[in-house]
Amino acid sequence: MATVEISSGLAQVDNEPRYHYDIYAILEAPQELYFGHETQVNVNVVETVRVPTDDGTIEKCYMSPTKRRGVERRSLIWAPVQSDGVLLGDKLGCGIPHTCTQIECPICAVYGGLIPSATDVEVMGKKSKRQPATTIGRLVHGGGVAIQELEPSEKQRAMHPSMLHKDPGADPTPTPFKREYNEPALLYPVYNHCMSITESEFQAVAYAYLDSHARLGAGNPKGVKIYEAEWQTALQPLLVVDRYLAPLGKRPVLSPQISKIQQAVDAFCSAATSVRNKPTTEAHTKIEEDDTTVFERWIGDAALTELQNYSVNFALAYLK
Ligand SMILES: [Zn+2]
Repeated sequence: MATVEISSGLAQVDNEPRYHYDIYAILEAPQELYFGHETQVNVNVVETVRVPTDDGTIEKCYMSPTKRRGVERRSLIWAPVQSDGVLLGDKLGCGIPHTCTQIECPICAVYGGLIPSATDVEVMGKKSKRQPATTIGRLVHGGGVAIQELEPSEKQRAMHPSMLHKDPGADPTPTPFKREYNEPALLYPVYNHCMSITESEFQAVAYAYLDSHARLGAGNPKGVKIYEAEWQTALQPLLVVDRYLAPLGKRPVLSPQISKIQQAVDAFCSAATSVRNKPTTEAHTKIEEDDTTVFERWIGDAALTELQNYSVNFALAYLK
């Protein structure tokens, strides 16, 4: 009788342990943002969702998790590699739509990859054949429904040719168009979760997460920051990072039904400071059982420092 192989397909790592990781944050757009509606890409309409409430339904702007994922992945593909004068995706032969799915690729290791059929590639001047392969991503994205109930604003824009003077009636003429925007100061609660990944693999996640903030949004303008609020007696980013074997922290995931900023901040901070159903005032909480660290949580500035440290280690490992 044939032996059934029961395996996840993931290689064993014997030099470092695996953990689950979570990143929770509230992002703030300091200016208007445009995120095209997925089914209406050519008509300049932003993506919104309808949220049921006691009084009916409300409409909210949406920074969809799939869009954040795409921006994060490109942030790694387009990261500068100092020694070679190329971008990381060019060095690895990993891009979109060709995700390389190679064992050594720090991008596909966490974001996943797919080569549907044997493919000839040329990477840094070297030709090779890549066999069909699949890597399932172990990083997932959630959240993104804006806190405030605010319908998109519509603006008149005009595409002007770069001529300072032209005769009346001469082509080309300015082309007016209308575009919807998410209003400035909208707040977006967002969440990233990583399943069974090593500390080295999380370096790419942390780098992409922080680096993508400057580039979120389609077209221009772009960019968000982590929202800051008075929290634990200081103005701190609303950010939480967990690393764990056992899920002991209350998850700072906000209900889309919350539309008031203070209520959202209070709910986020209350969950962020609840570990094993007890309040904690520590910037770094560590739970140990039987000589094993089963849960760690960093909040606010400590969480930001933690992500920044992982980002530096990613840069030293792949971008030198
Ligand atoms: Zn890859």
